This record gives sequence, C-alpha cells and structure tokens, in this order.
Amino acid sequence: MTVRAVRVIAEADVIAYHSARHGRSIARSIAAEHLRADHIEEPLVYPVTTGTTDHPGGYQGAMEEFYAESAARLAVHLDAGRTVAVIAEGDPLFYGSYMHMHKRLAGRYPTEVIPGVTSVSAAAARLGTPLVEGEEVLTILPGTLPEEELTARLASADSAVVMKLGRTFPTVRRAIERAGRLADARYVERATMSGERTGALADVDPDSVPYFSVAVLPSRIGAVPVPVPGDAGVPSNSGETNKTGQVVVVGTGPAGPLWLTPETRGELAAAEDLVGYTTYLDRVPVRPGQLRHGSDNKVESERAEFALDLARRGRRVAVVSGGDPGVFAMATAVLEVASRAPYEDVPVRVLPGVTAANAAAALAGAPLGHDYAVLSLSDRLKPWEVIAERLHAAAAADLVLALYNPGSRSRTWQVGKARELLLEHRAPDTPVVLGRDVGGAEQSVRIVRLADLDPAQVDMRTILLVGSSQTVTVRRGDGRQIVWTPRRYPEKPLAESPSPENSPKAAN
Ligand code: SAH
Repeated sequence: MTVRAVRVIAEADVIAYHSARHGRSIARSIAAEHLRADHIEEPLVYPVTTGTTDHPGGYQGAMEEFYAESAARLAVHLDAGRTVAVIAEGDPLFYGSYMHMHKRLAGRYPTEVIPGVTSVSAAAARLGTPLVEGEEVLTILPGTLPEEELTARLASADSAVVMKLGRTFPTVRRAIERAGRLADARYVERATMSGERTGALADVDPDSVPYFSVAVLPSRIGAVPVPVPGDAGVPSNSGETNKTGQVVVVGTGPAGPLWLTPETRGELAAAEDLVGYTTYLDRVPVRPGQLRHGSDNKVESERAEFALDLARRGRRVAVVSGGDPGVFAMATAVLEVASRAPYEDVPVRVLPGVTAANAAAALAGAPLGHDYAVLSLSDRLKPWEVIAERLHAAAAADLVLALYNPGSRSRTWQVGKARELLLEHRAPDTPVVLGRDVGGAEQSVRIVRLADLDPAQVDMRTILLVGSSQTVTVRRGDGRQIVWTPRRYPEKPLAESPSPENSPKAAN
C-alpha cells in the first residue's frame, strides 16, 4: 500500500470494497491493519461472478443493476457529508471494480484516485526479472481472451503479462506454447501476499491455479545468449551442443511493420540470427544479442546454405525476404538446399507474408478479384522465350496478370516487349496498375491504359497489375480512380481476341 492510501484510509469515515458472494475481500485483508472500529464498512457484494444468472437482462443486466445500487449506497454517505474510501486490490483503474463506481460518482462528488501497485509490477519484482528494457514493448492480456487471439498477441509480444488466470489457465498455457514461449514463461500466484507461489509456468498444475495469479514472459534482453565472435562472426555453441537449431523463412510484407504478420514478428524477435538481403533486414527492429548477416540480393543458394549451416550448429535462424517468402524469394532456395546432404534433418518452416501483388491490389481497389496469374518478368533465372510464351498463354486465357520484377536500371526492354505482346490480346484501354514502393515512403499507385504503359516509369520497386477484358476503372466521388475486376463472368465464351467494343467502358 502506498503512504498516500494509508493516510486517506485514516481520514475516511466509510471504507467500501467489492467482494464475491463469499464476502471475503482481498483489498480489505490487505488494508486490515489500517481499519478502525469506528470506520463504517460498506461491502459491495457481487450478485454473480461466473456469468450464470436468472436476471432478465442476463449477466450484463445483473451487473448494471449491481453497480447502480452500489453507487447509490455510496452516494448516501457522500450526501451525508461522509468521506468514502473505496479500496481496491492493486491499482483501482487497472481491471478494477472501482472504475464502475468512478464512472457513476466522480462527476457528482470531489474524487481523488490514488494509484496503486499493480500485480504486473508485483509479479516482476517477485520473479526478480526485468520486465521491459530499452525499446521492448510490454503487452498486458486478460486470460479470458479466445485462444487464437492470445496466441497471436503473444507471438508478436516482447514481454507480456497474462492476467485473470484460474479457469482460463489451460487455454493460456496452450496459447503460450503455440506462440513458442513456454520455455520463458513464468508463473506468479498471489504476488506479495501470503500463500505466494512463483515458478516455471510449464510446471504448474492447471487444477491448482487461482484467479489471483499471472503468467509472465519477462524481458528477452539478456535472456538471449550473448554471442561470442567465432568464424564469420558466428558464435560457437560451446556447451550448447545438444540444442537443435532451426530455420524459419519469413517475409516482411512489402514494407514496414504495418504489413508484418504477428507470427512473423514473433519469429523475428525469437531468432538468434537474421539472414537476408540488407534492404529487408533493415525493416526488422534491432534487438540486442541478435546477429544480423546482411548480404546483397544475389546468390540465394549461398545465403540459404549459410543459414542452414548456422542452424546445424544449434542456432535459431530467420531467413528474411520481402513480401511473401514463397513468392520469387528465399523459401525455395532454402528448401532446395535443405533437401540435400548434410541439411536434410535441419528443421525448416516457411511463414506466409503479404505479397506485393496483394498489397498493390488493395491500394488500387480490387483488380485481382477474379482469376489471375502471377509472373516474374525477370529473365535472369529463365529465358525470355518462356516468359513470352506464358504471357501469351495467360493473356489468351483473359487472366488478370500480376507482373513481378518488371524491370530495373539494367533491365529495361522487357516491359515494352510485354506491352506489345499483351496488346495482341487486350484492348488498348485495359487498365494497368503501377504500384511503386507500396507501403514505403515513396509509395505511388497509378492507373494507366495498357497502350500508355511507359517502361521508363517502371523500376525494380514496381509491380504491374494488368486487367482482363472485364476489369473496370471508375472515378469515385472524391476524385480517386479505382480499378476492380468483377467476380461474375459473361456466360458466352469470349471471342479469341476481345475487341475494345466488348469490354466494359472504362470511366476515365
Ligand atoms: N517476395 C516478394 C517478391 C520479391 S520479387 C513479394 O512477395 O512481394 C521483387 C519484386 O516484387 C519487385 O521487383 C517488385 O515487382 C515487387 N515488389 C516487392 N515489394 C514491393 C513494393 N513494396 N512495392 C511494389 N512492388 C514490390
């Protein structure tokens, strides 16, 4: 209890506290030594606690009525000029019952809220582990959330505290395990009270867990084994020879953290080594103790081998791509190398990410709303003849096209060639979306006619989405141009080469 709380109790006429039907109040037991015989006690006893009630308004109705009656009882004292101290366990505005009185009374009577020590601080103190350090983010979760939600939040958390255990414990434990954090998870029961218990969460018997307990995922700074430089700047795993390493291949999405999935964020935080093209590594927040192995955009197989070698030596490695790691990116390179000796036994996982086509499409409207084909225009890894053949086939099938790697400073003619080829099948005013640096600082999304597609406006950070005969461009009321492809398709089979008259009129 704070000194201020003790003083206020001493000056109060009335002491009020919430309790369950059994009538025992933790707050009252904590404050007991400061209560006097001449204090008027006002116990506010919940009519229900588990959600089963025969109140016509259900649980919500029963609660609403209870809070209104409780506030009225306190108001009687206040109107008589008496000072009321409502005592709450922990902090009154942190998942506390007091806030229901506050909302009903603070506007009518002079009110002071005295901050308290939350179970979050108490638990960390009793564990003797730092909770958040540097730029770590603390996540506080009620254990009553659904398991999927808990898992997603925990997977992307640095430090976390899960409150309201008890009956929720098995769900919370599963969520922690699914988020890959069971080994770090600690358990604190009745922190700073009598009957306190602390320990590894994995060892706790679910049937023994009361409501007054929390799960803690402490700070990871310092928990990560501090690397000692070895060959290629990689720590040797002396004394850790039994630890199994692993590779997880992740994608950052097209740009910054808004496009990162919670699962990927969690894996990036948990990794000991990050391997990838420097541009993508730069999107990942720096973490003390983590090693970064940046490289240029070439020789994917060498990068894959390097990552798998680290994992063979017991390291937890994240291979980082942009977008989705399985779309023209590192996942295949890693799996290709992992399919042969001596890497067949290294655990490899691939996590999905938001790919450039989906990100650009969303910003432009819904051009990929119907069937579409995805092609890379780069002829570095396949001959142009193959690309041309596929463009013809996809265009003849009237598919919308998502064209990755359309060009670069040294690769300029492909876009021009692709345009000529597509114009053999598509009308000149077929809409084309140019999504450049989607999600990034230089983001631009432009919609042009296929006939006007200018190769000079296309670079390595651009993706092209070419409409089908059905794709429509519309100018909205706010002046913004959008593009979408209907999900219905004309019933009559299309003429082999749809003429402009057949395609819906573009609004631009
Ligand atoms: N794995 C990535 C694709 C890598 S290939 C993904 O799933 O998105 C690289 C190509 O992706 C680029 O040449 C460009 O065509 C496209 N691209 C990636 N990020 C982009 C972005 N933010 N904006 C536009 N295009 C992008």
